[in-house]
Amino acid sequence: MTIVKIPERIIRLEELAYNLWWSWHEDARWLFRYLDHPLWRVTVHNPVRLLREVSVNRLQMVASDPVFLDRYDAVMSAFDTDMKAAGDWFGAIPPERRGGPVAYFSMEFAFHSSLPIYAGGLGVLAGDICKEASDMGLPMVAVGFMYPQGYFNQRINASGEQQEVYRQLDFNAAPIKRVLSPDGNPVITTVELNDAAVAIGAWQVSVGQTRVYLLDTNLEANPPGSRQVETRLYVADREQRLMQEVVLGIGGVRVLRALKVEPVLWHTNEGHTAFMMLERVRELAAGGMPFDEAAARVRANSVFTTHTPVLAGHDIFPLPMVERYFGSYWPALGIGREAFLQLGGQDSTVPQAFNMTALAMRMANQRSAVSRLHGKVTRKMWHSLWPDVPEDRVPISCVTNGIHVPAWIAPEMYHLFEEHIGKDWVKEPDDTEKWKRVMDIPDSEIWRVRQLLKRKLLGTLREGARNRWVADNVPSRQVPAMGALLSPDALTIGYARRFTEYKRPGLLFRDIERLKKIVTDPWHPVQIVFAGKSHPEDLPSKNLLQQIYQQVMSRDFQGRVAFVEDYDMHIARYLVQGVDVWLNTPRRLQEASGTSGIKASINGTLHLSVLDGWWHESFSGANGWAINGDRLFPTTEEEDNADAGALYHLLESEITPLYYARERSGLPNTWIRMVKEAIRSVLPAFCARRMLKEYATRMYREAVKTV
Ligand SMILES: *Cc1c(COP(=O)(O)O)cnc(C)c1O
Repeated sequence: MTIVKIPERIIRLEELAYNLWWSWHEDARWLFRYLDHPLWRVTVHNPVRLLREVSVNRLQMVASDPVFLDRYDAVMSAFDTDMKAAGDWFGAIPPERRGGPVAYFSMEFAFHSSLPIYAGGLGVLAGDICKEASDMGLPMVAVGFMYPQGYFNQRINASGEQQEVYRQLDFNAAPIKRVLSPDGNPVITTVELNDAAVAIGAWQVSVGQTRVYLLDTNLEANPPGSRQVETRLYVADREQRLMQEVVLGIGGVRVLRALKVEPVLWHTNEGHTAFMMLERVRELAAGGMPFDEAAARVRANSVFTTHTPVLAGHDIFPLPMVERYFGSYWPALGIGREAFLQLGGQDSTVPQAFNMTALAMRMANQRSAVSRLHGKVTRKMWHSLWPDVPEDRVPISCVTNGIHVPAWIAPEMYHLFEEHIGKDWVKEPDDTEKWKRVMDIPDSEIWRVRQLLKRKLLGTLREGARNRWVADNVPSRQVPAMGALLSPDALTIGYARRFTEYKRPGLLFRDIERLKKIVTDPWHPVQIVFAGKSHPEDLPSKNLLQQIYQQVMSRDFQGRVAFVEDYDMHIARYLVQGVDVWLNTPRRLQEASGTSGIKASINGTLHLSVLDGWWHESFSGANGWAINGDRLFPTTEEEDNADAGALYHLLESEITPLYYARERSGLPNTWIRMVKEAIRSVLPAFCARRMLKEYATRMYREAVKTV
């Protein structure tokens, strides 16, 4: 569907709106912002909707505005360069050592808030990998689901209850296009579900050079039951989950075949998509290859990344259910019932259930965890699959997560780096040497940007609160809880993530009186901003959220502690960039990596966290704070008490005094030194460039032939 009203001179704005490349290029964002700033905000930075709703007059006006046209031409030319380039990194590899594309399968992808097909960190990682692959010129196609209702929008009422609002995505206002074959008809493939063929179509999302195919069964050809397979992300119903995973894993391979994409390497992001490996075995078996040989072939070009250090977090299906869905599939693999079910067994004994992580571990020769510590935990957890080797030799390695810097850096920080690190810093974000220059940035300049980012965050919170008050008639006592009264001068702590028990969002409230003292100190006040969603079916998590919200609403904390509704990528950007301290309190060994703390650190927001995941390998003593060291505790009760105590102590005796220690310059220079050290040590080491280079050289051997 083209947008007819766009003047010829700026006609390519539409192409730009449909390629999420714009979202990590500030000059491209500027074009849309300039086009209609109020509308840009109303559409929550959605250029597809913006172009549909902006007035013809305004379009014609900018089409003859030299300021706009200059930038437009520059942006389009940068876009064209990026869309053709093999990238500085991939381009440097001799052509004979470049293989074909990597296929990257994931249940969720977080590209931008206008495409709500993600729930949390897993999706953010997948999205960031696609963006980085484009920047590096690494050929990649990604496969996921087009959830028409996505993950839910969160509302919290005055008694602190989370309400889930499911909105049907307006496909005309999302950066997606139906995948058509050369004859103009939609590309359709099928899979069998319960002995009935289900038709699968696909939508394309362009993420720079990376093409993403999102599967869709909501087609006329399908009966109502199978049309709703992927209505929502992370349904609790096991059978629907299994159907989703069959469609995504098996259907995903078939869609790529229908599109004549020939991946040389297949990457499974978490166990949800592991059926993809079986489907490739089936293809080979259909050509007459025995199972063992076919499986060996598939393993040789498969990569699996696991993200879940807790057993309960793994995708497990009851055997009778698996038998119902795969009873007619395993003969096509050339194996029988026992051998098939064994593929999902936790060890070599008779399986009790079908575990998707076990399947993926067995079917991929390259296996990775997402941080060094998580690697250790994972090797221990899956020792059962390799009982004959010592635990430290279990063949699971690790690639520590990184974040796509251009997507998460504040524009103001970006410009500061251009000035002090180098004009092209963003082209080589992992160049450690260059980042030493951060230490030479004048304190006053860093501080100015930090203050500005905080004011932007508080402005956004205030605007959100005002909108909810005016439009939805929320009780006025809820307005301060939304952050409307926060002060730009107070030390501000952010805590935002999925609400789950092991992340302990309530840890700060373990000793209410002590927290009250910290927060209401008249000279050195501390503010806290919470955000996060509970999974709709997770009642303990919802209770936790409600308890926290009730505290936030209480007299003692009003105006100082806020809970922002509807945590998503949009609000995440403001939060990680705008608060002073980013708090993370998982029970140790349960956070595989965590990435929000990386987003915070690269923007100069200091990380205050339990030593888990990525922080375990990054914390130096000078770039943030560690809550309670490396110790393990016999009970969770003792761990929670000890960690809460350590957290209060840090806040009272180190963090708050440091923040308020203004020197003769009027600035907290020691604090600022820590800010610089955080940027210097975290940005080059935990950027997606470093991560994807590791994947490429160590695990994508078919795509980047290193020998
Ligand atoms: C980065 C991000 C996450 C993941 O961060 P964690 O530290 O793993 O919690 C989750 N949700 C959103 C919206 C994010 O931007």
